[in-house]
Amino acid sequence: MFLIAGAGLLAGCSKSSAQNHPSSGTSSAPPSTSPPSTSPSVTTSPTATTTAPTPSASSSVALPAVRSWAPGPGELEPEVKRLAVAAVVKLLRPTGTQAVVDVIDAQHGGLLSDSASVLVPCQVYSIRANRLITGGTTVDVRLSKSAQGNWRVTATHPAQPGAPATSLSRAARQVLGSPRITLPPASAADIRSGQVHDGVLTTMLELAKTYRIGISVIRSGHPIDVFGTTRPSDHPKGRAFDTWQIDGRAVVSPSTPRSLVTSYMRAAESLGSYNVGGPYQLSGAAYFSDRTHHDHVHAGFQV
Ligand SMILES: [Zn+2]
Repeated sequence: MFLIAGAGLLAGCSKSSAQNHPSSGTSSAPPSTSPPSTSPSVTTSPTATTTAPTPSASSSVALPAVRSWAPGPGELEPEVKRLAVAAVVKLLRPTGTQAVVDVIDAQHGGLLSDSASVLVPCQVYSIRANRLITGGTTVDVRLSKSAQGNWRVTATHPAQPGAPATSLSRAARQVLGSPRITLPPASAADIRSGQVHDGVLTTMLELAKTYRIGISVIRSGHPIDVFGTTRPSDHPKGRAFDTWQIDGRAVVSPSTPRSLVTSYMRAAESLGSYNVGGPYQLSGAAYFSDRTHHDHVHAGFQV
């Protein structure tokens, strides 16, 4: 069962932390490890889904209705994201059972002229033995562009969040329990693993006093190095988080007020982030902007 693999990624992977994969290679399937976590019902309503359940003739539980992901008008390379999402849905959808993949977001992990990384956090729902099973992970999809100008997927790297820690900091517990911070499965597992620094978590908690925050990536599922460089990213060290949605509005969307995004970026800096990236270049040493960050706000910490 493929969902078992997906859930196992969250629940039972060893503590091997950083995903030490190269920036290109062949597609890799997620490892199948421990059994899935089961739950009698969906406890959270993930973003970008509708809440109306789909009737099911064969069981008394139903899969949630899920909207298929499509690039909006603000995307720089919509075809790159479309290809990445299609690859992830194919990778994560279990076979032989009723299941649906909810693509929460598709965010650039890197965007260069002829290569790209797209990070795709997903929730996966399936029905087995008349129970709704929730799982999911984030997949780092690598793509390259041919001389003819056609993009193609070259590799897929599912997140490896690591095993849950035996005890968690107060900040970790608060972030996991916050109704104003929406975490994709891999990011929640990152926090449960105890490998996200408290400076990251306390900043999220402070930001959440003002904003409702949609997190896309914290630690797992992100490239090891800043894409296209040999400079280590702060993400795999548990010292950064990416925000794709603020107050229910996607950072990438042209209809999202610029002031909402810039005030969020400034707030992250004032709360201690030394490196804040986003779609807009602000004045100040902490801020940066590039094509990769047209669709999210990055906040990094030196801890
Ligand atoms: Zn980032």
